[in-house]
Formats: sequence, structure tokens, C-alpha cells
Amino acid sequence: MRNTLFARFLAVALGISIGTPGLISSSLDKSITGTLVVAANKTPAPHPKLARLGKKPDWSTLDKYQRTITRAEFQRLLDHCYTRSGADYKGLIQVFEDRARIIKQSNHPEGGWYELHFLTDRRKTKEIERDWTAPWQMEKLPRNENQPLKGIHIAIDPGHIGGEWADIEGRKYTIGEDTIPVQEGEMTLKVAKILQRDLTSLGAKITLTRTTEEPVTKLRTEDLTKEARLWLLENKGLAPDSLVEATARRMFYVSSEIRERAVLVNEEIKPDLALCLHFDASPWKNPYKPAFRDVNHLHLLINGCYSYGEVSEDDTRIEMLERILQRVYYYELRMAEEIANSMARETRLPPFSYNGSSGKSVNSNPYVWSRNLLANRKFMCPVVFFEPYCMNNKEVHSRVQAGEYRGLKEFGGIYKKNIFQEYADGVTTGLVNYFRKVR
Ligand SMILES: [Zn+2]
Repeated sequence: MRNTLFARFLAVALGISIGTPGLISSSLDKSITGTLVVAANKTPAPHPKLARLGKKPDWSTLDKYQRTITRAEFQRLLDHCYTRSGADYKGLIQVFEDRARIIKQSNHPEGGWYELHFLTDRRKTKEIERDWTAPWQMEKLPRNENQPLKGIHIAIDPGHIGGEWADIEGRKYTIGEDTIPVQEGEMTLKVAKILQRDLTSLGAKITLTRTTEEPVTKLRTEDLTKEARLWLLENKGLAPDSLVEATARRMFYVSSEIRERAVLVNEEIKPDLALCLHFDASPWKNPYKPAFRDVNHLHLLINGCYSYGEVSEDDTRIEMLERILQRVYYYELRMAEEIANSMARETRLPPFSYNGSSGKSVNSNPYVWSRNLLANRKFMCPVVFFEPYCMNNKEVHSRVQAGEYRGLKEFGGIYKKNIFQEYADGVTTGLVNYFRKVR
């Protein structure tokens, strides 16, 4: 382990000597080699703080957003949605009258600051380059158009993997003998396929990030052990093997899997919006002895609510800024609101409520919250993230057992559609309502 650290130390030292030759030649004897000079003269930059499997960012990717946002709008988005308070970006992002200064490497201020200049009254507004089409740029449709989603490309991300991977993911449980296991990755895929059929008939082009219960990523837990050990070492210190194994597993089914789906979304699908489908669950009272919980609720998420720890990750910070600069907030919020209203009518579920630290409310709609999740941060387009139904609620369990039946069936005295169709209908109605209003 010491060898790895030493190797990294050397690599960093070398990196500096290559990146900033001017510093060396101006102050020191030129007969000494660059590498040695750095080791003797300057503290090497520590390894940057990054999210799991994150990459050191290239700050020049923000160059295209120079002078595209006013100070007022930048500040409002940062404070109102993306962070909980100024303390979450203190020392990392400084807002001045004409520009924002953003630290490039949070644990190494000597690495410099990126300067993002604001749009001022003297300049004309510039079009922002983006891979998705905003509603006002879409073809206008007549009010009675029977394909209100015509020409809209939607990526649907069925959350989790399911199948033989559901146990590792911890998104599966069985209660009772001879019952169908309740498995989130399989359920989200069912809803995704119904949505694909229904939204296509309304004119949308639909692409799923996965169509089977297999991972999108090629990497597996065992491929990520070294990476997990290193990440733990750099972020938490020495870790026992059991924690390394758990981290590697999480890196497989969350970090690597979602990052691979993000590559698909951002580089191949390039949709106008993305829908991340999930089912919620409430914490078990005793995880070793699963028993039904009474709670059942609904909420939708847009991206936001970054903590200080998250903003201090260099890759996370630039990704948050890119979402601010692409102005996804406005579409995510209005779309989420519209769909939350139709889903609330469809499912008759009460809203879930966060305590304000892991999720933040951005308006008066009790169903809509902002939260920073890997998928709604990495998919570079407006993203609505769904968390309806608690999978470990008794009625939800019965409805999963009932499967995809036609028509209505009675649950607790109320006749209901099958749970997958009900979920999809809530989403479809909301999308249609939204696009009828804005197109
Ligand atoms: Zn989920």
C-alpha cells in the first residue's frame, strides 16, 4: 500500500514539473532536473478529491459558458436550488460583481482558480450550446394535435439492474411462502417498456438505457478492488478488507453502472430529456426479519441540494456548474411539477417529505424535491427522477403479486389498474400536459 502511495506522490510531482515549467526555471538553478526541483522546492499537490470513479475535470470545458449568465441568475440558482446555504460552497466558489472564481482543486488552492465571467448589460445574450432541445425550440403544434410528443427524444433509465444482480444491489425482498420476490430492477424495466409503447404512440422517440436485467458496465466488483482501496485511502484512510470489498461492490452496481449509462445518454442517445424510474422503499425495522411497513408515498426529484462535501469534489463541482449554466433547472422543475400532479391523482399517494438536509424543497409543490444523485447529475439534459410507492408496503406487495393484469382489480376496497400501468399513466399524462402547455 505504501508503494502505491509513493507511486502516486511521484506521479503528482512529475505532473507538476511538466505542467508548470515556468515556476521552476525562474526561481532555481537550471542544472537541477525538473522533477528533483519540485520535490525539493514545492509541496506536491495532493491527490484531488473526487467522487467514486470520478475523473479530474478539465476546467476549459466551461469556456463556452463565458458571459452567458448574469450574476443575479447564477447566484439565485446556486442558492435557491443547487446548495442548501452559502456554507456549502464557502471557499470553493466566490461570487463577485463581474465574475465567479471557482477553485480548481479543492484541497490545493495553489492549483489556481477558474474565472467565470458574468453576462453584463453591455453585452448581448449568447445562445448556449447544448445537446438537448428546449421546448421553445421545438416545432410548434396545433392545440388538438394527437401526437403532442412529436419529435421529442426521451431517454428512459430503468433504475437498478435486477435479475441475478438484485441481491447485490439490495433492491429485492421476499415475504411469505410461494410469493414473487419484489425486485426493483425488474419493476422499473416493466414500467419503462409500457412507457416506451405509450409515449411512442404519442409521437416521442424513446431510447432505454437498458432493455434487459444485465449491467450496462463491463466492470465487476473484482475489477474495482484496487480502485476501491485507493479511493478509501485517499478519502477515509486505511480501511479493512471488508470495507474495501463493500466499496468495490458499490462502485460496480452504482458508480460504474450509472457512469456507463451516462456515457450512453450523453454521447449516443443525446435526448431532449431523461426519465429515471425507481420505486421507493421505507427503512426496514429489522433488516434481518423483513416485515411490511404501513407507509406508502410519492415524490419526484430534480437535481440540486449539494452538500459542502459534494461541492468540494472537483468533478462534482464542475458537473453542478454545468447544470446551472445549461439552465436545466427551469425545465426539470416545471416538468416534475406537472408530472407530480398527474401521478398524485393517478396513484392517490401522499407526498414524502425530506428533513431538508438530504433533499431540498424548491417550491410549494409537496411532491417535488431537489437532490444530488449520480444519474440526475451526470445525464447532461433535463432529468426527472421518480420515487413512487414504497416497495415494502403490504398493498404494494399484493399489487406486485397481481402482475400486469388487464382492467381493474380491488385492493383495500378500491379498484385499481395494475401498478406498472398506473405508474406509466401518471408519467404519460404529466408529460402530455407539460408539452401541450409549452409547445
Ligand atoms: Zn431505486
